[in-house]
Amino acid sequence: MNVLLIGSGGREHALAWKLSQSSRLTTLYAAPGNPGMADHARCVALDVADHAAIVAFCGEKDIALVVVGPEAPLVDGLVDSLTAAGIRTFGPTKAAAQLEGSKGFTKDLCARYNIPTGAYRRFDNAEEAKAYVGEIGAPIVIKADGLAAGKGVTVARTNDEALAAIDDCFSGTFGAAGAEVVVEEFLVGEEASFFCLSDGKNALPLATAQDHKAVGDGDTGPNTGGMGAYSPAPVMDAAMIARTMAEIIEPTIRGMAEMGHPFQGVLYAGLMITEKGPELIEYNARFGDPECQVLMMRLQSDLLDILDACAGGTLDKASAEWSDQTALTVVMATKGYPGSYKKGSEIKSLPQDTESARTFHAGTAVRDNKLVANGGRVLNITALGHNVTEAQTHAYELIEDINWPEGFCRRDIGWRAVAREEAKD
Ligand code: AMP
Repeated sequence: MNVLLIGSGGREHALAWKLSQSSRLTTLYAAPGNPGMADHARCVALDVADHAAIVAFCGEKDIALVVVGPEAPLVDGLVDSLTAAGIRTFGPTKAAAQLEGSKGFTKDLCARYNIPTGAYRRFDNAEEAKAYVGEIGAPIVIKADGLAAGKGVTVARTNDEALAAIDDCFSGTFGAAGAEVVVEEFLVGEEASFFCLSDGKNALPLATAQDHKAVGDGDTGPNTGGMGAYSPAPVMDAAMIARTMAEIIEPTIRGMAEMGHPFQGVLYAGLMITEKGPELIEYNARFGDPECQVLMMRLQSDLLDILDACAGGTLDKASAEWSDQTALTVVMATKGYPGSYKKGSEIKSLPQDTESARTFHAGTAVRDNKLVANGGRVLNITALGHNVTEAQTHAYELIEDINWPEGFCRRDIGWRAVAREEAKD
């Protein structure tokens, strides 16, 4: 079958690599894709926001399945447009993608279906939001309701910080995404990401991961889209996964169907493992980036089979097998990220891909036959090992082979898990 993959990040490179291994694949197209994806897919310069152009392309190329990688086209209703044209598509509709696109929507769903999450209130004006902060007090969490590229959340340690974050949201820093604010209880525990698929009725648990959002070593400095990740997450043992499925995922899938928005696609739960058990911090409606890279590195089943079953409503007949090894990915970014940075610096050498290590491209481009950095997050160096320590050592050894003076990475991805492994020995 011919498949069209939408996106151009490290997540989509990992998906392209895995899809390209399927015996059922004839041709994989990627729109717009990136230079790394070009090894596995034909990259086509389609405008993802132009739904009519995507639909026409699918007709021309006899596309049997479209896989949507990033959140923006989901929230923009690309799946609705493709489905209306009779094209099978992996990913949620615009209404179902509200699980990611509106934090208030998700909190209301949690309240209605008794899904464990922090106490909260929604506000459409600064005055009432500030009064509520005064009532509850810091630490407290302030969130812009809509998509804000991961920057709309402030974990406020003081009331003043919370009040400033509220002003920030309502002053238009996040555009329409900040027209409403969710003020939320501060949860204490260890964070983990849980990935599963849903076809609207059935759920297929995939795997767990932990990521590092802060730009600096020791999880310091401003937040980014993600500077590294590893899978599995040691904190998510079998009992915790079973509780997450029963208390969070299954009621969500039931609730979304009951509300008339059956959710089909990746349900990615950001969890806080508190003293009481797993609590939902947020949902994403797609794979995480860079978490997808570590998941794909461990996946042993045919990804096309699984995504096609999900889009076709037969997920109950699908299964996913995983390597027992740990996968760890380190993001290399252009110096200056997540602030301002220059595009166009040359990446002079990359490590060799092997069975147990791969470099996934994110913001790269080819100019005058040279590979150059074309974004903030640029490369994902992804390696396997028998535990986090081994996977970490392996990834950083590979980074030694990269000749790109304008790039940088965190030097401590996986540090908490590594410290725990050291304490056990
Ligand atoms: P989100 O975009 O909702 O995942 O939030 C970004 C980050 O803020 C999360 O990964 C957590 O580290 C933190 N965070 C969000 N909500 C809470 C909460 N209720 N309690 C504690 N930390 C939170």
